[in-house]
Amino acid sequence: MRPGAFRYLAATSLDEVLENLSELGDEVTLLAGGQSLIPLMNLRLARPEVLVDLNRVPGLAGIDLVDGELRIGAMVRAADVASDPIVTGSLPALARAAAFIGHPQIRNRTTIGGNISHADPSSELPGVLAAFEGSVTLKSLRGERRVGWDEFIVSTFTNSREADELVVDVRFPVRPGWSFAYDEVAPRHGDYPLAGICAGVQISDGIVRGMRLVAVGVSDRPVVLTGVAQFALGRELDAATIKELGKVGREEVSANDDAHASSEYRKWLVGTLINRILGNLVLEQR
Ligand SMILES: Cc1cc2nc3c(=O)[nH]c(=O)nc-3n(C[C@H](O)[C@H](O)[C@H](O)COP(=O)(O)OP(=O)(O)OC[C@H]3O[C@@H](n4cnc5c(N)ncnc54)[C@H](O)[C@@H]3O)c2cc1C
Repeated sequence: MRPGAFRYLAATSLDEVLENLSELGDEVTLLAGGQSLIPLMNLRLARPEVLVDLNRVPGLAGIDLVDGELRIGAMVRAADVASDPIVTGSLPALARAAAFIGHPQIRNRTTIGGNISHADPSSELPGVLAAFEGSVTLKSLRGERRVGWDEFIVSTFTNSREADELVVDVRFPVRPGWSFAYDEVAPRHGDYPLAGICAGVQISDGIVRGMRLVAVGVSDRPVVLTGVAQFALGRELDAATIKELGKVGREEVSANDDAHASSEYRKWLVGTLINRILGNLVLEQR
């Protein structure tokens, strides 16, 4: 199918985008990589009145480390998140998660701002953002505000952006002394995951001092597995504990049941991924 009629504006400055958002509000749909929006328009599930294209807007594509945070401009492509030396050096789990998105052609277009804004519960990057307790920066003519992931990602395909706001960057705190990893199971390489886990662990003297575990693809938004983290605190991550943590995760998570996988299978995947990721993180520390 072809999309319905719409007005197209190829913005060339941030001010132009913000002025249009301020004047037209809900009538504007922002176009970033187009990898979710264009298929939705072709199916007429999205029918924008005015499409404001962000691809020629300067200043939205940098990657840098500022004040202990990795700041990634909204228009940075998933392919760059996966390969940029600043990302691979400071947050390899994020780079790995980005490499799971679709195929090279899709990663070359997909932007981090579009991916997080789209709030697909099966997307890898919102889960990684949740694991790092990251945030997004929203800009409008009224000013700028930082919103934590928990407030920004509301539920399936829903975020808390106001109609006149633009996501300008996504920020991940770098956590010294912590090791993070991301892994997932998908039906085929490049497919959305049936379940994925982003795990972070802080170990000193062989004992777990901190843990953060987030599941993706199991609910309407990333799920923080607090029960697993609490169970792990103060313990040594030996084989028996890791096995037990997988069991705790399986019991803690309530997982969707749909055409792709049953709830029971997703719960089993969560437990298995926890075992796999934590086992690998312990090996890396040796
Ligand atoms: C075959 C295929 C496989 C895929 N596999 C995966 C996968 O495995 N994992 C995964 O996570 N994704 C996957 N995707 C989706 C892809 O990553 C999308 O591109 C992504 O979800 C949206 O990013 P985008 O830059 O393309 O945004 P767009 O499609 O341009 O926009 C998506 C939404 O975000 C809004 N938006 C965009 N930028 C901003 C901004 N700066 N501020 C505010 N709102 C904004 C848009 O208005 C729109 O509502 C796949 C897509 C395809 C076609």
